[in-house]
Amino acid sequence: MGRSLSIGIAGAGIGGLAAGAVLAGQGHRVAVFDQFAAAGPVGSGLMLQETGLAVLGAMGLREAVEALGAPIDRLWGVSADTGRPVLDVRYSALRKGLIGLGIQRATLFDVLLAAAQAAGVRLVTQTRITAANGQSGVLVDDAGGVHGPYDLLVDGLGVRSPLSSAPKTELAYGALWATLPWPEGAGFDTRALEQRYEAARKMAGVMPSGRASPGAPESLTYFWSIRADQYDTFRSEPLTHWKDAARALWPQTDVLLAQIESPEQMAFAGYRHRTHAPVVEGRLVHIGDAWHAASPQLGQGANMALLDAFALARALEDSAEAGPALQHFLRLRAMHVRIYQWMTWAFTPVYQSDGAVLPWLRDRLAAPLLKLWPAPPVLAGLVAGGIGSPLKRLGLAAAR
Ligand SMILES: Cc1cc2nc3c(=O)[nH]c(=O)nc-3n(C[C@H](O)[C@H](O)[C@H](O)COP(=O)(O)OP(=O)(O)OC[C@H]3O[C@@H](n4cnc5c(N)ncnc54)[C@H](O)[C@@H]3O)c2cc1C
Repeated sequence: MGRSLSIGIAGAGIGGLAAGAVLAGQGHRVAVFDQFAAAGPVGSGLMLQETGLAVLGAMGLREAVEALGAPIDRLWGVSADTGRPVLDVRYSALRKGLIGLGIQRATLFDVLLAAAQAAGVRLVTQTRITAANGQSGVLVDDAGGVHGPYDLLVDGLGVRSPLSSAPKTELAYGALWATLPWPEGAGFDTRALEQRYEAARKMAGVMPSGRASPGAPESLTYFWSIRADQYDTFRSEPLTHWKDAARALWPQTDVLLAQIESPEQMAFAGYRHRTHAPVVEGRLVHIGDAWHAASPQLGQGANMALLDAFALARALEDSAEAGPALQHFLRLRAMHVRIYQWMTWAFTPVYQSDGAVLPWLRDRLAAPLLKLWPAPPVLAGLVAGGIGSPLKRLGLAAAR
């Protein structure tokens, strides 16, 4: 390593905590700022792909997440209109033994927080960052407090970061998410993320999401696609209206719907699409969703934030100065980010939109096309996050 830098990271989310852990582990002096009162994650379940798992492996955290997450071999979606498969991705089509890992966001957060604290990161809570100055290296909070100057500033404030540009595209559809105990004998595949669709207007999904702690019951994450402008109606109407529609789309989920007794159990997430530029502003760098927000259609966001965090540490390994290191960081990550931002943008209307043509074609063409070589390995590689060789660029071996 070059000299030890002082680093201020805004946001103790997935990217911010991972960056904090690796950078402090390299001997830098790191402070991480977040608005929350006590460290605690928001949200439901997510999928770690080969990319994210490789980064966690390099951080010495793979075993910890594997002990609590649920291995996933297959993504499997069926059109309720035609009964045909419209999504069928098996990781093994790319490589034997390759998996995704369903995990509760809270679990991943706990593992990263523990790693950051063990590495000596200083966590500053109840601090809402409103501005940053990439020239002077300071962060400013909403009470007028000035933090720094730091040699390097990292914006890990997520999709609504006040330090990056407002999203150009607020997507019409978001989703309701709930993590629920795995119901006995419900017949869901314990190693698959399953989905059901009606055109692209309705979609429900079930994803194994492991356990909150050792000995805790197995969970799954249930999600229901909803137009953002329908969310208030969902909350004000009797819950039975929504449950009737959800049951009609996928009768097997009745046992899950029975566990949902109030709208508060369903967390709403609106989706945005935005690639912020410039990524580097003086000694300020944007990572994770603050750089590249997208719908979770391809399940890459957390993995991309982990890749960004690790790339930052890689870039700083040899360089004594933040400026050249940040240019190196960009070279390590820009192409992969471009590819996945484009792919996610292209895939989103196929699964969540009011359009009729794309879903109609999807329902009729996907079943035969999914089987045609080279679709199976290409789709597995796409979902695993490997298009553009992000791991090779970071000098990381595939996770296993
Ligand atoms: C419902 C849903 C499902 C998803 N599913 C998947 C999936 O299956 N796989 C996947 O890889 N990704 C998934 N994602 C995306 C993934 O969660 C994000 O891409 C990832 O969390 C981005 O990490 P981040 O560090 O950039 O931001 P975040 O993890 O969002 O962290 C941002 C942090 O900044 C803090 N913060 C925000 N504003 C301020 C402020 N002004 N001042 C101080 N602190 C602030 C927040 O409290 C938070 O702690 C999903 C996202 C959603 C919403």
